[in-house]
Amino acid sequence: MDLNDTPEQAAYRQEARAWLEEHKAQAPPRSGSYEDPSYIDARRAWQGRLAEAGLAGVTWPREVGGRGLGPIEQVTVNQEISRAEVPGILDVIGIGMLGPCLIAHGSEEHKSRYLGPMLHGDEVWCQLFSEPAAGSDLAAIQTRAGPNEDGSWTLNGQKVWTTNAHFASFGLLLARSDPDVPKHKGLTMFIVPMDAPGVTVRGLRQISGEAEFNEVFFDDVRLEPDAVVGGVGNGWGTALTVLMFERLTIGFGSENFGSPARLAQTVAADATARVDSEVRRRLGHVITELLAVRFNGYRALTALARGQIPGPEAGLAKVTMVNAAITATDLGADIVGPDALEPSSEWSYLISFLPGLKSAGGTEQILRNTIGERVLGLPSEPRMDKGVPFSELRAKEKEALV
Ligand SMILES: Cc1cc2nc3c(=O)[nH]c(=O)nc-3n(C[C@H](O)[C@H](O)[C@H](O)COP(=O)(O)OP(=O)(O)OC[C@H]3O[C@@H](n4cnc5c(N)ncnc54)[C@H](O)[C@@H]3O)c2cc1C
Repeated sequence: MDLNDTPEQAAYRQEARAWLEEHKAQAPPRSGSYEDPSYIDARRAWQGRLAEAGLAGVTWPREVGGRGLGPIEQVTVNQEISRAEVPGILDVIGIGMLGPCLIAHGSEEHKSRYLGPMLHGDEVWCQLFSEPAAGSDLAAIQTRAGPNEDGSWTLNGQKVWTTNAHFASFGLLLARSDPDVPKHKGLTMFIVPMDAPGVTVRGLRQISGEAEFNEVFFDDVRLEPDAVVGGVGNGWGTALTVLMFERLTIGFGSENFGSPARLAQTVAADATARVDSEVRRRLGHVITELLAVRFNGYRALTALARGQIPGPEAGLAKVTMVNAAITATDLGADIVGPDALEPSSEWSYLISFLPGLKSAGGTEQILRNTIGERVLGLPSEPRMDKGVPFSELRAKEKEALV
């Protein structure tokens, strides 16, 4: 479904549609292995072409190579790319989340050095935030950046679930730069070259068979003074910018996961399923959910287009979208039957991929907590970490247990 375009937006949609029509024959396949360097190279090149056509970095300012348009045009491009059945950009994390953070908090040197190659797919980026004991509680990270006398830093620690680290050129990394202040205060954001001595990337194989994310280890990695983004000790604020863009990127990129049209086509194509009253009941239920998510998304879009930031209630859209997409996939797979489990089937990929989205970009429980506290005004969870230096937290937690 198209948005209710203004004449300018309709012209932009037409431009995007015409370009995609003309060039789609040269696009690589929509799916392929992220462990296959030739597929990654083809996707990088395609991203470069989208960028040259003004269909990547749509909301980035013009002065850094973007198109300088709004979130509605970004959704328009996503819809047109999906309509043309071609792949979108490869570096969704870089262009959707990390680039906007560099635009907001990076120095002029950072912007001129990194944004162009990121936009064109020449240098892919990864997000080095989560750790084995710091996911939902991100501010508990322990990767340590120790300052050296010459202004450089030495990095030691481990990250996990790092999507695309195996072909990334750079990572944006949150590290603890001062353990003697409360945990949200002693953090700093750094740019890390993934080929720096002391960086080790190890793939983690998922149930889908792919190894899209990784563990990353840092052993005495030296970072230059200009690796700091957003100021020493300001890492939490800088990370919040990334997390805000992460919610938007997952939200706006989500339409394809639970396509009501594809589900309806699957039902219609099956003579038994289309007359089965239970299938029709489930179909009606899930399509209602998916449409509600879509219109809720348009409400968030309207807020953004007016220069407002969507509130904590936006988290509910992610929870509903992921659950509706899982229910839709279950129904599709029930209709297709055992063939849905063929490795080449898109249903088999969705069945194994979608549950991970419950955790990615904020887990369902954490988002429900946020809604409870910040939208419904319920009492907040007890917190033991307020005002306590990070280095004393373990002792404090043990005290609370006796
Ligand atoms: C597909 C995918 C891609 C990812 N890519 C990246 C990436 O590129 N870079 C990156 O840095 N990270 C990435 N992540 C990690 C992601 O951000 C974390 O999985 C997420 O923050 C949750 O952290 P965790 O896995 O450590 O779970 P935990 O925080 O350990 O949570 C485990 C369970 O406990 C629940 N829980 C925890 N605390 C509470 C609480 N206070 N109240 C109620 N329930 C609670 C959670 O909801 C969850 O169900 C990715 C994850 C996935 C699934």
